[in-house]
Amino acid sequence: MPGSSPRGCSASPLLDNDPVSEEKPICSAKGCRADAVWVLAWNNPKLHTPERRKTWLACEEHREHLSQFLGVRGFLKDVVPFADWESAADGPGSAADR
Ligand SMILES: [Zn+2]
Repeated sequence: MPGSSPRGCSASPLLDNDPVSEEKPICSAKGCRADAVWVLAWNNPKLHTPERRKTWLACEEHREHLSQFLGVRGFLKDVVPFADWESAADGPGSAADR
């Protein structure tokens, strides 16, 4: 008995180009969908341990606004360019050269 060969359920050719699910980091300001350019690192001493860092992302336009918001509360720790933040947060294993 010739087993009927299973038809490969080929994916639709329409979906040929694989979806690049590269989530763009966007500004944390309410209603803003601009690309994040800055990272605001902050910490609420009432809620967080001192070494803990919360981060907000900000576009060029909202960096001032958001950092002021955190600044007046005494939460703001650091403002770094997004590119620098990413390369700094290289993750474990980057200490390859001993
Ligand atoms: Zn913004």
